[in-house]
Order: sequence, then C-alpha cells, then structure tokens
Amino acid sequence: MSTFKAIRIDKDDQGYRAQLTQFDEKDLMEGDVTVAVSHSTVNYKDGLAMTGKSPVVRRFPMIPGIDFSGVVTASTNPNFKTGDKVILNGFGVGETHLGGYAEKARVKGDWLVHLPDGMTAAEAMAVGTAGYTAMLSVMALERYGMTPARGPVVVTGAAGGVGSVAVALLAKLGWHVIASTGRASEADYLKGLGAAEIIDRNELSAPGKPLGKERWAAAVDSVGSHTLANVLAQTKYAGAVAACGLAQGMDLPASVAPFILRGVALLGVDSVMAPQALRQEAWKRLARDLDKAKLAAISSTVKLEDVLSLGPEILAGKTRGRIVVAVG
Ligand code: NDP
Repeated sequence: MSTFKAIRIDKDDQGYRAQLTQFDEKDLMEGDVTVAVSHSTVNYKDGLAMTGKSPVVRRFPMIPGIDFSGVVTASTNPNFKTGDKVILNGFGVGETHLGGYAEKARVKGDWLVHLPDGMTAAEAMAVGTAGYTAMLSVMALERYGMTPARGPVVVTGAAGGVGSVAVALLAKLGWHVIASTGRASEADYLKGLGAAEIIDRNELSAPGKPLGKERWAAAVDSVGSHTLANVLAQTKYAGAVAACGLAQGMDLPASVAPFILRGVALLGVDSVMAPQALRQEAWKRLARDLDKAKLAAISSTVKLEDVLSLGPEILAGKTRGRIVVAVG
C-alpha cells in the first residue's frame, strides 16, 4: 500500500470536516497523468471548500486545492512524459476531482499546461488560479480593444489575489491603475505593485445610482454585487468591465443604463473551463508580463499543514495577495 500526505474533506453523519491525513494512492481518481505535486495555493474557492460555507465540493471524500504545479511521474497521454513540469487550474479539480492539497494527483492530461519557460513551479503557484484569472481578465479587455490610451482602469478587491496580480499586470502594461480596497493599510503595498491611485471600497460597495460620473475606461472586478453595479455606472462611454469574481456577492443589482446610454460592455471571465489555447496564451503572457519582483512581493508561502486555518481567513478577506502552499 502506498500512501501520501493530503488534506481530506469528508461529509457524513459526523458532519463536514477537513483534516490533514494520509491518502491511499489506490483511491486516486481516473486520469492519464500522475503528478508529484510540489506547490498549490489558497484561493477563495478553496476557502469555501475547506469550510463547507458554500457547496463547491461535489464528491466525498475530496482533496481540495483547485490548482497545482509539479512534475509528471507517469503518463499515457501523448502530450506529457515523465519529468515534464506542469500546471493545473480548474476543470473541477478540488471540487469534483481530487485536487492539489496532496503530494500526488492523477488527472486528465487535457487539463494540464506545460510550465512556461522562465517560470518556476513555485512562481506558477504564486500566480495560481487567481493570477491566471487576472490575466484572463486583462486579455478580455484587450480583446475588446481596450488600451491604456483610453483612460484609467479600476481594479476592485485590489489587495486580494486576483486584484493584486491585476494591479501589477495592468501597471506593467502602462495603465493608470486605480486600486479599490477596503484596507487602507495596504495602500503602500498596492502602490508598490504599481497602483497610481487608491480608493476606499466603501465608495463602491453600497447601493448606487444607475449612472454616475465617468471615472474609468476599464475595470477588472473581482467583487460583484453593488460594487460591480457601481463600477459599471461610473465607466466612461464605450468602456469595458471584465467581471470575474463575487467577493461581495453573486448578485448584480444594476440597471441597463450604462449599457444603453454609454455603450459600456460587460465581459465575463471564467477560468475553470477556459479552452486550452486561451490557457496557454495566458500562462505565456504571465511569464512575460508579470514582474518577478512584484510577484514575490504579492506572495507568501505556507506548509500543507497550515492550509486549514487559512480557509476562514480568505473568506473573511483577511489574506493579502497570493498564498503558495509548499506541498512536496
Ligand atoms: P481574495 O479573498 O484573495 O480577494 C478578494 C478581495 O475582495 C479581498 O481581498 C477584498 O479586497 C475584497 N473583498 C472581500 N470581501 C468584500 C466585500 N464584502 N465587499 C467588497 N470587497 C470585498 O480572493 P481571490 O482574489 O482569490 O478571488 C476573488 C474573487 O474572484 C472570488 O470571488 C473568487 O471566487 C473569484 N474568482 C473567480 C474565478 C473565475 O474563474 N471567474 C477564478 C478565481 C477567483 P480588499 O481588502 O482590497 O478590499
């Protein structure tokens, strides 16, 4: 019998619980590539999974961890061979398929991306699903034709994982970045990432008017709810908003006014089922456009045993930037 260290979530008549334990290799799920996981991360969704606060886990037992990086140890997939360095994001890993908070993972090769040149496995997870989603959001704005010449960009949830990487990326790409945060104490951190202005998230989080003063040409919103409604209402004529998150709420209490009176576009961003070509482009862009020193400033590293206590913290919006989990 071969076992490895893992966080395991169970739900039964003793309740919903997550614990560090040994997991039997024979209980891994089907897949054509086995990976020795070296790093994972703590994402908002991992917080939901570990605490059971929202039903993101659809199979028990579950190993949470929606992303990981590591080295292939066995493969029958033609695109991957033993020794390849790989990254995984999404595809239900950590929700419906056993995830990254474990020393081993077995997945479909079609879900994997090769680690891009110039990026280490630890750096890939400092980026993680949150950073990759930030990149997808920036690419959505670019696909729509948005450029820094159009005006400022606002990033909501700026001190969080998606927000921090979005601020760093957009600043590097030449945007005037307005960072919206509820944590005034993080102003220096955000300026260090390249934010030109900091605004208090309270300006955006309460119910607002259908249209407001035009303040920004573009937005990356990781917050949803009233914040997204207010971001839309204050977007300049013909601007665009990339919506990728729901930290304030899943609702969107908005009006159609920004769309029909200002031609504002709302661009949806999904990282989980994003097609391979988009994933590969996003990771290539991250290797190129994300400043390594800023990535280091955004991220901190914890051990697998520490991850359980971070679930409630990320849900409470208390964690900063990206948390890398050193697994293997
Ligand atoms: P974090 O918890 O790291 O960041 C979220 C940030 O949002 C917080 O740091 C805080 O920023 C702000 N925030 C938290 N609560 C509230 C609130 N009640 N009102 C207003 N602002 C709030 O999470 P991530 O960055 O990892 O993820 C952000 C969101 O993006 C989540 O909802 C997540 O589910 C979603 N997401 C979506 C993906 C997709 O595929 N579309 C992929 C990855 C994430 P501050 O302190 O600066 O105010």
